[in-house]
Amino acid sequence: MVAEIAPGLHPTRYWHALSDGRVQCDVCPRGCRLREGQRGFCFVRRRRGNAVVLTTYGRSSGFCVDPIEKKPLNHFLPGTAVLSFGTAGCNLACKFCQNWDISTSRETDTLADAASPEELAATAERLGCRSVAFTYNDPVIFLEYAVDTAIACRARGIKTVAVTAGYVCPEPRAELFAHVDAANVDLKSFNDDFYRRICSGRLAPVLETLEYVRHETTCWLEVTNLVIPGLNDSNEELDALTRWVIGHLGEDVPLHFSAFHPDYRLRDRPPTPAATLRRARAIALANGLRHAYVGNVRDPEGETTFCHACGEPLIVRDGYAIDAWRLDPTGRCPRCGAACAGVFEEHPGDWGPRRLPVRIAR
Ligand code: SF4
Repeated sequence: MVAEIAPGLHPTRYWHALSDGRVQCDVCPRGCRLREGQRGFCFVRRRRGNAVVLTTYGRSSGFCVDPIEKKPLNHFLPGTAVLSFGTAGCNLACKFCQNWDISTSRETDTLADAASPEELAATAERLGCRSVAFTYNDPVIFLEYAVDTAIACRARGIKTVAVTAGYVCPEPRAELFAHVDAANVDLKSFNDDFYRRICSGRLAPVLETLEYVRHETTCWLEVTNLVIPGLNDSNEELDALTRWVIGHLGEDVPLHFSAFHPDYRLRDRPPTPAATLRRARAIALANGLRHAYVGNVRDPEGETTFCHACGEPLIVRDGYAIDAWRLDPTGRCPRCGAACAGVFEEHPGDWGPRRLPVRIAR
């Protein structure tokens, strides 16, 4: 591990010097080119001398114990508690951001709590959390803190989860996903124009990340698509998106269609009707996806895990709570014996829908 160079500052290694005197950050496809003292688009990576440093190492906007289903992950240790945290900043600028107070923060106003990787792992263990989640904002921009935390967690048998937009370059991508055990990657749209206009990003790097995680790592993968009325909810786009998921990631990757709520710079749209999410789920299932869910609305059928072979309800949910568990101890359907893809144990966790804020800094 590299030594810290000042409180909150941490050396990074994904950058290179340019011939014009600037230094380019190579963590994400933005490739910010920085002069002395300048910060990147994400705000948390800054040039210091002839290098780029991370300014939020060990600092957090807060810690909270959540149900793992809230990430959302429905096939990764269901029912267990996950210690969740984020830092500040983001490398995308989604107009609909549901965590905009964190993603747009200029760090000092929101980074009220602090914890070293070792303190985080120990806290997760003490609270009975099976995993730690990098969430609320994107771990890509606090990569070094996330990776060191994942290493500390593995040493204690705690797993880690990345909730990410997947907007990252190949080398840091390989480092991040070599260390985390599960990921929920946002596929915000299947339209590059949407990524450009609404998120200030590009679609292709996200698709590359999805394929990389699915095929080149052992990290468990689920995908979320936030469905926004009038922007990415057409039958054509949902059909193309779900066909791509099946064709490139496989029929076993769970896909979550999540409801949008008007927020940040996208307040002129109505919330996503539950019927739209059901339509999206129906398109995914009709195209052959085995596990499609709806999120941010109550929908007993859309929250349930069904056996892909015989239709038996295997995990029945009510919001973030598990109402019924019918997987056998080997993760198979008790009726037909078909395996359900995922990371399961003999019994589900019993954390329930609770949300428990936690203070770690002394
Ligand atoms: S991680 Fe931040 S500084 Fe680096 S290229 Fe992306 S936005 Fe720019």
